[in-house]
Amino acid sequence: MTVTNQLYQLQEIDLEIESEVQSLHQKSSQMGERQALDNAQSQLASEQQQLDELRRQQRAAEWEVDDMLSKITAAEERLYSGKITNPKELSSLQHEVGTMKAKSNYLENRALEIIDRVEAAEKSVATATSEFKKLEDEWQRQQHQLSDDIEQLKSQLTDLKQKRQQLSEEIESQAVALYEKIRQQKKPPVAKVEQGICRVCRISLSASELQRARSGQPVQCGSCGRILFLS
Ligand SMILES: [Zn+2]
Repeated sequence: MTVTNQLYQLQEIDLEIESEVQSLHQKSSQMGERQALDNAQSQLASEQQQLDELRRQQRAAEWEVDDMLSKITAAEERLYSGKITNPKELSSLQHEVGTMKAKSNYLENRALEIIDRVEAAEKSVATATSEFKKLEDEWQRQQHQLSDDIEQLKSQLTDLKQKRQQLSEEIESQAVALYEKIRQQKKPPVAKVEQGICRVCRISLSASELQRARSGQPVQCGSCGRILFLS
């Protein structure tokens, strides 16, 4: 195998390492990321709070209805007890009972409206709860998957770095040094040559450049400075 062929293989490994490192960073940053889950949780908490408040209003409204109904019962007992004989007093009490019954109707309607709102809020809470549960399950599943992926990437990286180490030891040290020097300035450091053209900078190579590159020894592109590789 020619030196440039070896360098090209080294470059392939480096590209693989770079891509795996990038995936590793990306997946690591997603670990523990739970913004969407937190949003769903606070949404659920706020729906629950609304429901609690409505239930409190319902109890208060029902208590007011009960209170009014017992006042009416007491007034009607007095009205039909036969103890009140004064017509003026009777008429006034009758009027009072009428007023209280109207008030009681109003309070009952208000309580029913609140009950409707409680029922709607119960549905919202049930929906928000099942949505949150679904998101949480999905999140747990993703986190497990991420953790598995990260482990796999780490082990692949270890293998690749070992492979790189092995290969770079097999290549002439001067060639590796040139490769590393170019790589610090531009990536990828090795350019394929196809139909007499450097595939990276797309410059046509001179006949002498081509001839030297064909030898398999590292020759740099006169235009972009990369090591030329004729496959
Ligand atoms: Zn070039």
